[in-house]
Amino acid sequence: MSRLNLIGLLPSEMEDLAVEWGASRYRGRQLATWIYRKGVCDLESMSDLPKEWRAFVAERAIAALPEIERETPSQDGSRKLVFRLEDGARVSAVLMPDDGRITLCLSTQVGCGYGCTFCLTGTMGLERNLTAGEILGQLLAANRSLKGLEGLGDLGGLGGHLGAPQVDNAAHQPTIRPPQLPPEAGARVTHIVFMGMGEPLANYAALVKTLRVLTDARLGLGYSPRRITVSTVGLVSGIERLGRENLRVNLAVSLHAATDEVRARLMPVNRSWNLGALMGAVKRYPLAPRQRVFFEYVMLDGVNDGTDDARAVARLLRGVRAKINLIPFNDWEGAPFRRPPLPRILAFQGVLLDAGITTTVRWSKGEDIGAACGQLRELVGTAGVSA
Ligand code: SAH
Ligand code: SF4
Repeated sequence: MSRLNLIGLLPSEMEDLAVEWGASRYRGRQLATWIYRKGVCDLESMSDLPKEWRAFVAERAIAALPEIERETPSQDGSRKLVFRLEDGARVSAVLMPDDGRITLCLSTQVGCGYGCTFCLTGTMGLERNLTAGEILGQLLAANRSLKGLEGLGDLGGLGGHLGAPQVDNAAHQPTIRPPQLPPEAGARVTHIVFMGMGEPLANYAALVKTLRVLTDARLGLGYSPRRITVSTVGLVSGIERLGRENLRVNLAVSLHAATDEVRARLMPVNRSWNLGALMGAVKRYPLAPRQRVFFEYVMLDGVNDGTDDARAVARLLRGVRAKINLIPFNDWEGAPFRRPPLPRILAFQGVLLDAGITTTVRWSKGEDIGAACGQLRELVGTAGVSA
């Protein structure tokens, strides 16, 4: 008999299970506390559960994390974790340390069905949705892997060569800042972005369940919703539904063009939901007083990177509390696009800044290890090979 995986259940579902298994709801709360709050997955170690009941549970359930098949450190301090799931499928998560934060980029699907023409994941098609357990499992496993790191010595010699400095031109004038140090031992993921493989809102039920566990301060992981960002290709019905969940997480919208004509060429989804419909849903998304909607804009040479395009973006976002992240295109083999030269990116940013819109250039992390935005594709069945 295959055992139930407890990871991915809501704490309230663990309480129900405990009752079904002849114990009190309190025992369910203890299970949730061990797994989510303490990160303990071994039932044997759950010392305050009665021994016989522990054995009873162990016959029926496990708390299993996805297996980390490979961990690749990047020269910029980020780390790509490749998970092998139970059915052999592979997905990745990327740990990105930055100014005292540790951000984890999570995958929500194996592949993606939306076929954006600049995205490597999009070339795979959709294989399947991840379960809430597989999404949460990436985080629990990443936290565990951080715990196991013992200072710089364990990071593949990164302490010795920290890679090229990053250009940080958030203030329009490029400034050079040192590459980030890898996370300290015992650190924990502080921020979570749903920007890995897949379209989060196309796996809605698992996404919302994951978000509930992440933000449950009593029996879940207790992350502030403001430290969680869900990125979408622009699924209007999903954005509206998410707005009604009262989860208060940040919304990031992949914009990438300011006209329907260009956007439809880059993103087939624009034929189902055009910019008018998308902006309508964005304006209705509930925001806390200082919260903003993030817009991602991949910079593609000669396609969407002119100052006219920037002016069109500024017009489109008029009246929206917005922050724009410009993502210089990350290359992959056979890609039909190129990254624009830096002066073009800065000119584009300049127009938006002049229009009063907070705009940063986000240099993706982990480009050297195939972990940057849009570079994720883990080949199924071929150990050790990734895009
Ligand atoms: N499916 C969701 C979330 C995952 S992609 C979405 O599309 O929003 C995270 C971000 O990386 C998206 O904004 C996506 O458009 C962008 N991206 C995809 N391929 C890229 C590439 N090759 N270079 C730079 N950004 C890319
Ligand atoms: Fe899917 Fe997002 Fe890639 Fe588009 S950019 S193909 S929605 S993962």
